[in-house]
Amino acid sequence: MNALDASIADRLKDAAGPGGWSADAAEIAPHLAEWRNRWKGATPLLLQPRSTEQVSRILSICNETQTPIVPQGGNTGLVGGQIPTQGEVLLSLARMSRVRSVSAEDNTLIAEAGVVLANAQKAADEADRLFPLSLAAEGSCTIGGNVSTNAGGVNVLRYGMTRELVLGLEVVLADGRVLDLMRGLRKDNTGYDLKQLFIGAEGTLGIVTAAQLKLFPKPAGYTTALVALAGVEHAVPLLNRLQAATGGLVTAFELMQRRALDLVAKHIPGTVNPLPAHDGWTVLIEVSNPSAFDATEALEQALANAMEGGTVVDAVFAKTARDREGLWRLRESIPEAQRQDGASIANDISVPLSRIPDFIREGEAAVRRVLSEARPFTFGHVGDGNLHFAIQAPGHDAALLAQRGAIERAVHETTEKFHGSISAEHGLGLAKNEAIALYKAADEIEVMRALKRTLDPNNILNPGKLLPQA
Ligand SMILES: Cc1cc2nc3c(=O)[nH]c(=O)nc-3n(C[C@H](O)[C@H](O)[C@H](O)COP(=O)(O)OP(=O)(O)OC[C@H]3O[C@@H](n4cnc5c(N)ncnc54)[C@H](O)[C@@H]3O)c2cc1C
Repeated sequence: MNALDASIADRLKDAAGPGGWSADAAEIAPHLAEWRNRWKGATPLLLQPRSTEQVSRILSICNETQTPIVPQGGNTGLVGGQIPTQGEVLLSLARMSRVRSVSAEDNTLIAEAGVVLANAQKAADEADRLFPLSLAAEGSCTIGGNVSTNAGGVNVLRYGMTRELVLGLEVVLADGRVLDLMRGLRKDNTGYDLKQLFIGAEGTLGIVTAAQLKLFPKPAGYTTALVALAGVEHAVPLLNRLQAATGGLVTAFELMQRRALDLVAKHIPGTVNPLPAHDGWTVLIEVSNPSAFDATEALEQALANAMEGGTVVDAVFAKTARDREGLWRLRESIPEAQRQDGASIANDISVPLSRIPDFIREGEAAVRRVLSEARPFTFGHVGDGNLHFAIQAPGHDAALLAQRGAIERAVHETTEKFHGSISAEHGLGLAKNEAIALYKAADEIEVMRALKRTLDPNNILNPGKLLPQA
């Protein structure tokens, strides 16, 4: 671990204010391990400021003394970006957890970085509005983390990634200056849109202290169905048919291979697969109904037609809110079930929608060429072309992990072949920051480095993450 000079530590503690820091190993421990237990951190000091002014003072001290610092929100990131693996100071934004304002008239909500996503959703709901960002980690992840990873989730199809939900940001720069980018305008063509630089920057260009978020009308109701497909090749054509039939009201379209549902049934108590006889692919489909009309009938009719045409084999509709919850629980529990089932290699890729079946076929073959015992399975946000392509090798965990590099390379090369992205929504962090050098043009990487040098000349903000080091 980097030794932290005692006088610098004292200045940082003073800047974070009373109760705003900890050097206690037990208190710090939960911040040093991440969800999949792949990276383990170490830090001499945890800072937990309550205000933007405190963050500003902390960064100006870090910059002056060239002390590296790692920002952390809810610690649910899946690529290690929030873990201080080189003994950096750890900056938790969790105590900046105030919803500053909600305006039903402007359709905006201003949340501090540490507001837990579910609390932002709740604040919007209380104002009779919808904040549509939704992901399985929403009970723990924070708005600052969502912005910094440009989080996706299950409603991207209708509402877009976090980037599309941000109207304004407050950001503390590496030298402590506070950039107020909170105009909150939907139209503002006054030069470079600086807030975009910090969205998806994984804490390498500045610290997000607050975000102004877009709100939407609350749907009057939902129609939710679990649908058995005759084959994965029917998924995207079915989505297009349903969008046409409902006037674009499909908000979620989540693909799941049978193995994913089996893992959930095995590890998550109280879950039931309502289509147990179907051995192939299923999709969880949700339509959000506006108050003006209910698209249930249109959805039912379109699915009945698809059944007649042989592309859909079976379907169950949620009849109650509890049914809906049960169907969503199946989808949202997959990562947890996967984690409990032993070693696995997770991939988060995207390809053009039309290439999804080809990617799955060739990706599975490429992985099996590396390790014949490998059992790949897929789930994900298929309407966005985003597949979580997971690989297990039951009974051969050690062999699987020993082949991690070769397996990831096989997946990335297949992704590249179909003009896809090796990270659709989780980011690069420590997991893919070296691999990305192989798939982005050298000029693109150089412009990214130039931005980093300009905004963080002393390389204090989350060093070693996102950008290739080699
Ligand atoms: C079960 C599960 C399901 C998930 N599902 C999805 C999904 O569907 N879609 C998806 O996109 N992601 C998903 N994730 C990943 C994760 O939840 C998101 O990346 C989330 O946005 C991270 O938020 P966080 O507050 O936990 O950030 P952290 O994990 O604490 O940090 C993530 C990154 O952001 C940086 N950071 C955090 N806060 C700030 C800040 N205030 N300023 C600057 N940098 C900051 C960190 O340094 C790190 O690089 C899932 C994770 C889990 C565990």
